[in-house]
Amino acid sequence: MSAVPQQPPLHETPVTDLKGVGPRNAERLAKIGVTTVQDVLFHLPLRYQDRTRVQEIGALRPGDQAVVEGQVQTTEIRFGRRRSLLVTLVDGSGSLTLRFFHFTAAQREALGSGVVLRCFGEVRKGPGGLEMIHPEYSREQEAEPGSLESSLTPIYPSTEGMHQLSWRGITDKALALLERQPERLPEWLPAQLLERYRLPELVPALRFLHRPPADASLELLFAGGHPAQQRLVFEELLAHRLSLGLLRRQRRRVAALALTGDGGLRRRLVQRLGYSLTAAQQRVGAEIAADLAAARPMMRLLQGDVGSGKTVVAALAALQALEAGAQVALMAPTELLSEQHFRTFRDWLEPLGLPVLWLTGRLKGRARSELLAELTKDLPAVVAGTQALFQQDVRFARLGLVIIDEQHRFGVHQRMALREKGERGRAVPHQLIMTATPIPRTLAMSAYADLDLSVIDELPSGRKPVATVVVPASRRQAVIERVRAACAEGRQAYWVCTLIEESEALQCEAAEARARQLAEQLPDLRIGLVHGRLKAADKAAAMQAFQARNLDLLVATTVIEVGVDVPNASLMIIENPERLGLAQLHQLRGRVGRGSTESHCVLMYQTPLSGNAQQRLAVLRESNDGFLIAQKDLELRGAGEVLGTRQTGEMQFRIADLVRDQALLDDVAAAADRLLQAHPERVPQLVKRWLGRRQQYINA
Ligand code: ADP
Ligand code: MG
Repeated sequence: MSAVPQQPPLHETPVTDLKGVGPRNAERLAKIGVTTVQDVLFHLPLRYQDRTRVQEIGALRPGDQAVVEGQVQTTEIRFGRRRSLLVTLVDGSGSLTLRFFHFTAAQREALGSGVVLRCFGEVRKGPGGLEMIHPEYSREQEAEPGSLESSLTPIYPSTEGMHQLSWRGITDKALALLERQPERLPEWLPAQLLERYRLPELVPALRFLHRPPADASLELLFAGGHPAQQRLVFEELLAHRLSLGLLRRQRRRVAALALTGDGGLRRRLVQRLGYSLTAAQQRVGAEIAADLAAARPMMRLLQGDVGSGKTVVAALAALQALEAGAQVALMAPTELLSEQHFRTFRDWLEPLGLPVLWLTGRLKGRARSELLAELTKDLPAVVAGTQALFQQDVRFARLGLVIIDEQHRFGVHQRMALREKGERGRAVPHQLIMTATPIPRTLAMSAYADLDLSVIDELPSGRKPVATVVVPASRRQAVIERVRAACAEGRQAYWVCTLIEESEALQCEAAEARARQLAEQLPDLRIGLVHGRLKAADKAAAMQAFQARNLDLLVATTVIEVGVDVPNASLMIIENPERLGLAQLHQLRGRVGRGSTESHCVLMYQTPLSGNAQQRLAVLRESNDGFLIAQKDLELRGAGEVLGTRQTGEMQFRIADLVRDQALLDDVAAAADRLLQAHPERVPQLVKRWLGRRQQYINA
């Protein structure tokens, strides 16, 4: 007996091993990422058609896709806007019109009255009742007996040049191979896990989804709720979670500077603040302090609603690093915000004798090289800036901590790259990432499972919620009066122009026009303008003037969205709020309500407003709770939008949907822990199966 050669697993078996898949098809498949037999098996149908039974015409509803059988009653050619052939089909339960725009004389002949037909097509409402346009049909005497399908017909997501029939052929071959040699597609989920969560095994689940039996529920399949689907969703979510877990483990093996200090600087800052820290600030402060004192790099996401006081928590973390003699990089998404941080930190830290630098885009030539030279000295300092902080020529002597503000949109890969950038010698800097866009907990745990999570779940006392009203643009005049009245009382206001679909240039023009117009209508007010196209110096000057109360009204684009802190501003007008997401609006609105006076926000929409937009604005009117708003945003817009990773494709799942499948996330988290404990050797296999080409940062 000769030894049977070991067959490679299906994820190493090229599609061309399947009979009938030649180089042409292989090329087409490769375009959509299908290169192995495993890929074929995991390429699941988008939906299904039921061709397993003949349905009664009388029971059809518009939208159904169905097989019907009946006798032709009448055939006529209609000369309307488009010439068409109309065939009436009756089956005793009702009648249905078959409509053909393209037909031959022979076809017309063959569809004469009395002929018995079997058709398949989509049912729609026509001018004279239900109809099918260009159905597939066969004359009954031609139809072979048993020509109905035995399983639901899968419709695959496709690519140019690949027809559904080809997909069915290819998946047939792959399923047959799987049938013969199931061991080539290993089950990585342990039996106890499957049992515990009542999940079917992999091979039967795949077979089911490619060829569901005639009695499978189309509705359940369409909703993604069938156990066979849930089984794959579970495995995919698990793989994602594990890949982030691997990142986390890998990080623990790297050295960081243990940032311990005597706490003296921190105590002095707290004494000088003029308020006491909230319990939540103290709690997350302690979490961060403990991380920094360890010789493993911290990777912590600090979430806190707008105005919850994240900046001072960041400053305390920075002081701990400075106490330990290290440098701190403070990164903000915009120049505007980096300048504000620079000023805030300077006000806090310079009295303590510590240097605060600002690497602004405005620094050129000599001034810039001097600042860069400063950073190469082994002296404690804080440097604020944008992503420019991590340009090639920026070198740090002893970077101990990187603080990233308002950057939850940073993906895993960017976070990793940034870490490598900061790497000097063997120690990597600690990272603190701050965001005011609250992400529902389970979602955060899945999307950011490589990070530890701290949440400031309390606002400083004395804050009054921002009273929000929703008004149509036709009330503009009244709104302008309101601005006049507020400013007359010594308060300040923002007027935000939004125009997201168009170019930034158009957005800036719109803001300029609005500022001119308001200046005419409100001649007594001092009005400033901030938008993305202004020179950095002009932008900064306007912001500073507003901060120093030398301006009453600041007209702006959404550049002021993040982080800007002017406590005396207590009124905000947002034009066309219907164009923005809820989280973004909440952010914008968070620019007011920072002081002790009652604040107001006016959402001035353009009519007519869609139902969804009405709902969204109502959420904002009724709530000031960022977490609740984020949850609603998630429901109304989907996870990709909320996490902001839609463009990067990072959180793209093949089968899972973070919103639809939210209920699984806790079980997935528990299962991930158990798998790491009991079967660590399966972890890389699972990750490879689901994230194969996307995990270049993981070298487990
Ligand atoms: P965010 O979390 O949105 O970044 P900030 O750090 O800008 O919020 O803080 C918002 C405002 O609240 C600032 O003016 C800050 O000085 C103030 N603040 C922060 N913590 C407290 C506190 N414990 N008590 C009172 N005011 C505070
Ligand atoms: Mg902030």
